Amino acid sequence: MRFYDTLQREVLDFKPIEEGHVGMYTCGPTVYRPAHIGNLRTYITADLLRRVLEFEGAEVKQITNITDVGHMTDEVADAGEDRMMLAVEDEGLAPDEIAHKYTEAFLEGLDALNIQRSALYPKATDHIHEMIEVAQKLIERSHAYVAGGNVYYDVDSFPSYGRLSHNTIDSLQSAHRIENDPLKRNSYDFLLWRVAGEGRVMKWQSPWGDGYPGWHIECSAMSIRYLGEQFDIHTGGSDNVFPHHEDEIAQSEGATGHQVVMRWLHGHHLLAEGRRMAKSAQNFYTVTDLIERGFDPLAFRYLVMQTRYRSQMNFTWDAMQSAHRGLENLRKHMTEWVSESMQDGELSAAAMDLDRRFAQSVTDDLDLPAALVVVSEVASADIPTEEKFSLVERWDRVLGLDLARDVVALEELPAAIAEKIAERERARESGDWKTADRLRDELQRDGVELTDTASGPRWSLRR
Ligand code: AMP
Ligand code: ZN
Repeated sequence: MRFYDTLQREVLDFKPIEEGHVGMYTCGPTVYRPAHIGNLRTYITADLLRRVLEFEGAEVKQITNITDVGHMTDEVADAGEDRMMLAVEDEGLAPDEIAHKYTEAFLEGLDALNIQRSALYPKATDHIHEMIEVAQKLIERSHAYVAGGNVYYDVDSFPSYGRLSHNTIDSLQSAHRIENDPLKRNSYDFLLWRVAGEGRVMKWQSPWGDGYPGWHIECSAMSIRYLGEQFDIHTGGSDNVFPHHEDEIAQSEGATGHQVVMRWLHGHHLLAEGRRMAKSAQNFYTVTDLIERGFDPLAFRYLVMQTRYRSQMNFTWDAMQSAHRGLENLRKHMTEWVSESMQDGELSAAAMDLDRRFAQSVTDDLDLPAALVVVSEVASADIPTEEKFSLVERWDRVLGLDLARDVVALEELPAAIAEKIAERERARESGDWKTADRLRDELQRDGVELTDTASGPRWSLRR
């Protein structure tokens, strides 16, 4: 497996710290609004990475955090309002009710897209203690300072700051020029802990008084807590590179004194009408919107895989429509290729070649577009149909498209339907086309789609 590392800026072969085991941290959602399909594109990318590693035989421990405090509306200036509090004001619910509501909705979205569940979804508000500990360690090691009940990271104390995002101190200075926090030593210092303002409900006790954590510190605290002081892969969307991950590196390395994350993988954005899809820009769609328009959510997964994760991708309903049709078509092929006499024997040379090309594509920096070309070649390949079926069924462990979903074994069909199919076969054999056609129409009304193939009838169930 090889993939592009944001830090080293090249595609590199990947070897886990411990052979056969991969620790992977995925930046999770801020649970103040429904996750949109842009967010989900990033989680599909992380899921594909995990599935490819598992396809290659590794065991992956994936941790995805839930941000339920401290993510401000202005990420770069670290200012504005806590997003959770925006939702509290809008909806009149308590912060933990908002978090619960949108965490559940997020998990349902993952399930609808066949994104495998992480081992754990730790919540920021359950790890305040760990965050305070990281902040204390940073103060002890002279990477942070206290001023007016706030704790700031002293960016000048960490010379390699900017390595991930390639931001220079000059550019940071100008980005922060407008904001004026007299407690900071330098305008580009960022908050680890913030004093609770008058009337704030979400606050905790700390050595520096009542307050709440900054956004970045949660990911340092929880990644180290669950994956250890050195782990293999950290994923996120490209907007996380700065400031979120730049600051996470400064914190985690400042606190431990060594490299913590070995590889960084970032997925690029989903756009709508040419602009980044965003909760705050209101140009977003959710999985529920897809379903309401009659689409299979997995058609969105299929659509996402048609663009490499390192390119931006523009979402349109037309593209969604063709992805939906394409997916239906693949599933229909599967119902035609399945055979009652499937055997686990050796594959033919031509099938092995397709298999090799598929594996090569997905392990080459997640080249799913190339892998899908191989999938599309299967239909016209000169190999037995049962090989077509078993190749695609195996590849679906990576693709996650439920491609064999419509394949129903004869014995799983309701008895009345199985009997009608058999009756139609008898009618066809005796040349009684009229009866055969009538039975086919009846079956269609029952939701059964029939295709006649050289090796007998194939059927799929409409859902
Ligand atoms: P948030 O809930 O805002 O913390 O974002 C959750 C994840 O979605 C983060 O990893 C973001 O980088 C990612 N993300 C946000 N907007 C988009 C987008 N338009 N396309 C792809 N990923 C996104
Ligand atoms: Zn994070």
